[in-house]
Amino acid sequence: MSFEYLTKIPSSEEIIRQYPITPDLAAVKARRDEEIRSIITGDSDRFLVIIGPCSADNEDAVCEYVSRLGILQQEVAERLVLIPRIYTNKPRTTGQGYKGILHQPDPEKAPDMVGGLIALRKMHIRALRESGLTAADEMLYPENHTYLADMLSYVAIGARSVENQQHRLTVSGIDQPAGMKNPTSGDLAVMLNSVSAAQQGHTFNYQGWAVRTTGNPLAHTILRGAVNMHGQSIPNYHYENLKQLSSLYAKRSLNYPMCIVDTNHANSDKQFWEQPRIVQEVLHSRRLSPEIRQLVKGFMIESYLEEGCQQVGEHVFGCSITDGCLGWKESRELVLMIAGQV
Ligand code: PEP
Ligand code: MN
Repeated sequence: MSFEYLTKIPSSEEIIRQYPITPDLAAVKARRDEEIRSIITGDSDRFLVIIGPCSADNEDAVCEYVSRLGILQQEVAERLVLIPRIYTNKPRTTGQGYKGILHQPDPEKAPDMVGGLIALRKMHIRALRESGLTAADEMLYPENHTYLADMLSYVAIGARSVENQQHRLTVSGIDQPAGMKNPTSGDLAVMLNSVSAAQQGHTFNYQGWAVRTTGNPLAHTILRGAVNMHGQSIPNYHYENLKQLSSLYAKRSLNYPMCIVDTNHANSDKQFWEQPRIVQEVLHSRRLSPEIRQLVKGFMIESYLEEGCQQVGEHVFGCSITDGCLGWKESRELVLMIAGQV
């Protein structure tokens, strides 16, 4: 064994006791959770826009970004519910690179796992206080869900995790709507199997306990495009792809069949500036087909204060150090466009 045991990690109860959510913020979350739920269940015809940086690498930049989004939310409240992406842990394709604020509260310093748990909780609380918006995060490490469970309004299961049993079982017990992405291979059956597993109840081990869950009826799909055996991106946001997902859903008896379209990643071939065009196409498909209109209930968009991306060590405030993002001006215009057309 090459494990070196460095530090005992405090439990989520201990961290939450030190950094609690206040009753007024908990009330904001309860109201937002209900708004988001009503879109998924079909009780509201508003539309979801999950938007923000690929990784939340810097508390000040993230809070500035999310505060702007909070103002924009008021402008588009009639048609849209905006959910900021505040992603605190990042899967890495080769294992190298920035793993998120959970591992590195400062991207230029050594990993600090306890410091990371505190930093991500402080960042989420501050972002909610300053913007009035509860956020989305990726569940990369299911054991960590309870450190933020009282703060989050949306959870995504990434393309590299969606086949993993512990992710599926954990989602079956959480309160948040969970978007299960298609795997990088693009296999839609894997994605739908994951939704199916998450919507059922299970008994399993979690954080040193035997637990039983009741299933998560709000688990749904996210199309993020695929990568083929030659490393080429294969988009899956086109009209035919959406029709196909709709007919695959029709063959299963899942709760609330719906999907979110991720406009970056393999759908844009990481050409982040293509995101507005992809949004336009999907909105057009929604207008052409009532079936697609019912299916697609939101977008996931990568956006930050500054356009593009930079290397760790460059210090452009609010510019991504992972996937390239739309800048603020284009993002604001895009959100207003969606609100006007959806
Ligand atoms: C992301 O949303 O930034 C991400 C890593 O997504 P995916 O799992 O689709 O690669
Ligand atoms: Mn990304």
